[in-house]
Parts: sequence; C-alpha cells; structure tokens
Amino acid sequence: MRVLLIEDEPEMASVLKTALERLDIIVDHAATLADGEAVARLGYHDAVVLDRRLPDGDGLGLIPRLRALHLDVPVIALTAMSGLDDRVAGLDAGADDYMVKPFATVELVARLHALHRRSFTSRANQTMVGRLIYDFRHREAGRTIMRGALEEAVYALDDEIGSNALDAHISRLRRKLDDVAAGIEIRAIRNLGYLLRAAS
Ligand code: CA
Repeated sequence: MRVLLIEDEPEMASVLKTALERLDIIVDHAATLADGEAVARLGYHDAVVLDRRLPDGDGLGLIPRLRALHLDVPVIALTAMSGLDDRVAGLDAGADDYMVKPFATVELVARLHALHRRSFTSRANQTMVGRLIYDFRHREAGRTIMRGALEEAVYALDDEIGSNALDAHISRLRRKLDDVAAGIEIRAIRNLGYLLRAAS
C-alpha cells in the first residue's frame, strides 16, 4: 500500500512515516496543501492521510478537487479539530474517514487497510480508460448524465444553447462510435439525459 501523508508538523509527519513504513506501507509526505495536491494528482496512492490545518488552507478543500478529476483515492482526515461540527464537515466534504489527534497508529493502520480493501473491491469491477470508467457488473460507464450538466460542460458561458444543439452533437457522436464499431451506445433517458453503455 502506498499512502500520501499531507501534514505540516514535521515531528508528527516523521513519527507517522516511520511507524507506517515499519509496516511496509510506502509513505510520500507533503507539508502543504499545494504540494499534497500536486502529488495526489499523479494518482499513485491507495489512500491519503490528510491534516486539516495546513499553512495554505483547510485540507478538506483538496477532496472535492480530487473528485472533480475522478480521483477516487480514499481520504482519511487526521486532525486536532475534534468537534462534532468539524467531524461532520469532514465527512460532508467527502472524507471517507475522520480521525482525531491524538490517535493510536495501530487504529490508523487498521482504518487504512479497511479503506484499501473496500476501494480494491470496487475497482476490480471497473476499468478506466483516460477519464472514462467502465463498470463490468452494470455494463455501463458512470451514471446517467443530466442534460443540463452536459450543456454546461459543452458550451462556454456566453454561447447561445439552441434546444436541439446537444441532440445534434449526440447524433454525430453516435455515428462516430458506430463508424469505429466501438461497441458503445449512448442511450437517451427520456426527459433526463444520457447514459453511455455497452451496445446490446
Ligand atoms: Ca497542521
């Protein structure tokens, strides 16, 4: 297992790194949110251990940015911010787990292993090509995407969105997928949006 530790206190970072490495967990350490984000974006890690009070901001800010890049690496917030509101904010921000300092290393390791097992099981059913994730169990890529979200993603803010423009794009895309026998269809979900899935 390879873990990214984002922690600004040198002593805490060093103690944790030593303890985890003794258990054959590879640890990459970043001392700021910016450095941590740059390393996390490489997508090398099985889990991120994330401090909240970092010199350049609240660590929680990182989580939505990673998710927007389709990086589903499990994140454990590890912080002295122990209030109920803090813990709820951590989980609401998308942390998979929240641990309060001081903590026992053995518990952190157990939680890391638990998260790793869970994400490994879900990943085994998926394959990722570029930013496309295909789910073997459901024979689908992702979820149904709302029409409005597609229009927002495709058009610049100052573009006029004609009511049929998106449908015309989808038709072209379908023809291209057919031309290359991609084995993928774009199914229209009435009044909702589109779903990409294996052609039946
Ligand atoms: Ca800190």
